[in-house]
Amino acid sequence: MLIDNLKIVQENIQNSVQKCNRNLNELRIVAVSKMNPVERIIEAYNAGLFDFGENKALELRDKSEIINQDVIWHFIGHLQTNKVKNIIEKVDFIHSVENFKLAVEINKQAKKANKTQNIFFEVNTSGESAKYGLKNYDELSELASKCEELQNINPIGLMTMAQFTNDENIIRNSFSQLREFRDKISNKYFLIKELSMGMTNDYKIAIEEGATMLRIGAAIFGNSDYSLSWSKK
Ligand SMILES: *Cc1c(COP(=O)(O)O)cnc(C)c1O
Repeated sequence: MLIDNLKIVQENIQNSVQKCNRNLNELRIVAVSKMNPVERIIEAYNAGLFDFGENKALELRDKSEIINQDVIWHFIGHLQTNKVKNIIEKVDFIHSVENFKLAVEINKQAKKANKTQNIFFEVNTSGESAKYGLKNYDELSELASKCEELQNINPIGLMTMAQFTNDENIIRNSFSQLREFRDKISNKYFLIKELSMGMTNDYKIAIEEGATMLRIGAAIFGNSDYSLSWSKK
């Protein structure tokens, strides 16, 4: 049951927060609902979750048009510039900005929609070639600096994905690197303070390393059947 899963996640979060003397109110759970049907999202909403993460633009658009509840939508996947227009009016946070072209398009569409779009810069802290994201601090700093001219985006944090591994040190290195980048850049171009990091496999480590937004899917929704379309389940 989703509610039982959520209870376990919340207990684990509570334990990690206590372990490192942090405050529960510094942390936000983004329930990653990709591939799950809208009924499951509403079930999660009724269980007390308000933030939902999707990694496909059209899936976010379609779900947000069906769901009437006042949910907060996070786009967490790779975003193609030609899809920005599909989500701009729906999405509250875009976690995955990793190049200037995308930032320019988000800015343009946000202006059209008469909004300021909250974004994160995605950093590739694992060094894996299959992952997206800025490769080092210089790339991050250069992108942030260029974004200063864009009036309709609001960079608020950094996002990363650690390697999927059981090796805690490897995971911890990714997260501590993101935190160090955040500390270094926080007051330079924008007020960047959020750290979007930690998934089912590694959210406890992410909390210890300073995460402020956890993106948790499987631990809440169970393992989704990725062979099915979300709308047919
Ligand atoms: C799927 C996904 C998550 C959630 O992963 P789980 O292992 O299901 O918790 C988090 N972040 C991104 C970018 C994802 O694509």
